[in-house]
Amino acid sequence: MATIVKCPTCQKEVIWGPESAFRPFCSDRCRLIDLGAWANEEHKIPDKGRADLPLSEQQLEQLENELLEQDNEFFK
Ligand SMILES: [Zn+2]
Repeated sequence: MATIVKCPTCQKEVIWGPESAFRPFCSDRCRLIDLGAWANEEHKIPDKGRADLPLSEQQLEQLENELLEQDNEFFK
């Protein structure tokens, strides 16, 4: 009995075997569509990371002052 998988892109049933060159995809087209979707996901990740680092001018100034204070204590 052949193993049947569903194409992740179009949900069409695909035979899991040598006759299905693009398994688990039904065709090269569906494989490329899925790869494209992954590429888009990867593009979204850096955007999310940037949103997590909203350092305002004020915060930067504060950080700088804290570092300067630490330096001053170090050199006393
Ligand atoms: Zn497909």
